[in-house]
Amino acid sequence: MFDLNEFLDDLKTVVSIDSNSYDPVGLNKCVDFYQSIAEKQGLFVKRHFINDKTGDFLEISNKENPTHYDVIMMGHIDTVQPVDYSKEYPFRIEGELAHGPGISDMKAGTLSMLYIMRELSKETYDSLSIGILMNCDEEISSRYTEQLTRSFARKADYAFILEGGKNDGQHTIMRKGTATYKITFHGLACHAGHILEQPNANALVEMGRWAVELHKLNNKETGLSVNPGICSSGRAGNVVPDLAEMTVNIRVTHKSQFEEFESKMKSLSESPYINGVTVEFERVACRTPMLPAPGMDEYLERVKKVFYEKLGLNFSVNPMKGGCSDGNFIADEGVICLDHLGPHGSGGHKKIEYIYKDEIIHCINRLTVLIEEIADYKKTH
Ligand SMILES: [Zn+2]
Repeated sequence: MFDLNEFLDDLKTVVSIDSNSYDPVGLNKCVDFYQSIAEKQGLFVKRHFINDKTGDFLEISNKENPTHYDVIMMGHIDTVQPVDYSKEYPFRIEGELAHGPGISDMKAGTLSMLYIMRELSKETYDSLSIGILMNCDEEISSRYTEQLTRSFARKADYAFILEGGKNDGQHTIMRKGTATYKITFHGLACHAGHILEQPNANALVEMGRWAVELHKLNNKETGLSVNPGICSSGRAGNVVPDLAEMTVNIRVTHKSQFEEFESKMKSLSESPYINGVTVEFERVACRTPMLPAPGMDEYLERVKKVFYEKLGLNFSVNPMKGGCSDGNFIADEGVICLDHLGPHGSGGHKKIEYIYKDEIIHCINRLTVLIEEIADYKKTH
């Protein structure tokens, strides 16, 4: 039986361990904690070492050495909050709300995955192979764990992502894809007093032209958004800059928009406004769009039915939005994937982050019902 006080004690422990994406020590303290809970429950735990810059990846299952997963649940351990934030904004409960760094995005959801395993009927627990995946680099584009996550997705039939639920109660089956580009402009330096007489090529001016041209690609109809976000250049007011760097983030509704954007950059680099400036660009992070897998329509009908019958709830989904999760990679492998299934709350990535205390049991009930439904469905299909 679910015990809210026990859950809140565990949540307090894990929220009180700062686990910024760049802090492998804090991350591995959280990994240790989740591992100890899982092992106490009799689950099988594999701890995948990734590298020294991040924490370990946890693969937890009710089966020993599974080669196939009927269901995977996924959550991330890392947060965007700086180290020591939990001292400044400690875990606390005020009325209906539980506050703390990373609580909504997404420590409550990640912890819930372990508690959900306890609520499943014995029949479901025995009949299904269920995997729980936890990574430590989601907030930095899952730069180290994308391929590992994809390898688990290829072994799975259904996936649930427990990113913090939204207060409107809507779930997510589609997310935009994203890429970040680092663009470097090489020019030719010159004393500002000699610009008219001596050879020079102003890298900063060429970068300015790119910022304007790339910004023009924002398009509501195609859903492409482009944000030149960081620009740096120049050493002194009286020197023509010979180097400039710009970081641009884009959001796409379709994979082909990555190539379209890159070909635009290629054509800009072939016809510089400032003669003599050369440009190179590099895609430094990328997530493919999360699109509904084949069979999603039929699956949503099943979910709507079981939500209504077992929980008295309507199940509804968001229109496609710009935020990303590991669901982007999982859905890209053709797996049916629902996201935003964690406890409802708000304030992710902000100082005041919270979940509704009563939402924890609802989250656990939602997932229990979803997994039981898959077990029932598989009996007859
Ligand atoms: Zn998140």
